[in-house]
Amino acid sequence: MKERIIVFLLILIVVSSCRKEKTQTIPDEFVSFVDGFFEEAFNRNVDLNLSDFNLEIKLEDIQDHAGTCNTRNSVIRIDEETWLNIDDQQKEWLIYHELGHCILERSHNNNKASNGECLSFMNEQMSNPDCSSNLYSVMWRDYYLDELFNDCQELPDWYSTNQEYVDNGNRIYQVDTTVTATGFGDLVEFDLNKNFVIEFEFFNWTEVADFISILWGNNNSFSFCKTCIQNNLSISLNQKTIYYNSDVENIGDNSKLTIKKINDRHLFFFNEQFVHTFEYTEWENNSFGTIIWAEEIGTEITMDIKVYILE
Ligand SMILES: [Zn+2]
Repeated sequence: MKERIIVFLLILIVVSSCRKEKTQTIPDEFVSFVDGFFEEAFNRNVDLNLSDFNLEIKLEDIQDHAGTCNTRNSVIRIDEETWLNIDDQQKEWLIYHELGHCILERSHNNNKASNGECLSFMNEQMSNPDCSSNLYSVMWRDYYLDELFNDCQELPDWYSTNQEYVDNGNRIYQVDTTVTATGFGDLVEFDLNKNFVIEFEFFNWTEVADFISILWGNNNSFSFCKTCIQNNLSISLNQKTIYYNSDVENIGDNSKLTIKKINDRHLFFFNEQFVHTFEYTEWENNSFGTIIWAEEIGTEITMDIKVYILE
């Protein structure tokens, strides 16, 4: 009888210790992202330790998804082809998103701001057609990480500051040019360190062209596409899309695209309505210009370009 009890106890101990043992199987390419996730939690006073969770990450061929999390067995599967073709910011988003499911037990949230920005890190897709997330902005990344670990997080104050178009009459006239051109380029002759406004107004363009875009610095653009069914208003930085909105209408035949720099931020306006904002980044070169797409080669549109320094 005594022996039986001992055997039974031993079995109990083995079984219960097996239950407690958590295992993690994380291939090398994912280690820095998983470590980063727990560091970001720590930075936000969220007490999470990898050793307290079962977690397995697999690189596989998955149909239709960039990644999945099975919350029942804590297995994350990442699509190999997707992984090979995305940049570090997208890799971080993908791994953190799946850990949001598997570790934080969060589900999807596709809520968006009135200008189309995704409000949640846990929005459904990396290139979500329903809302846009700026993965390349430090300010937006901070907000999204705050929201990942605290789903009650609200949009930060910097987002709602300076959304009004008028600047209290403190514009100092600098340049005012009317050009007629299919495409236009010029060099900046004002101090980019100062706060400024650049307005491009395109006149009577909707009958002759499909797309208007203003360019600044290297490979950055702010565009409105009349005929695009999706994402007709978009912003790209270094040729990466950082903002899109499929729900913007142009009213009338004229359109105005505006970029402002106010202190540490870029702000974008379409027809004097606030569109999007993120931190001011160096232009890399001092050029600005426009591109117009039209069916007929050589189509010209009259533009009015105004540059102001804000003081
Ligand atoms: Zn998901």
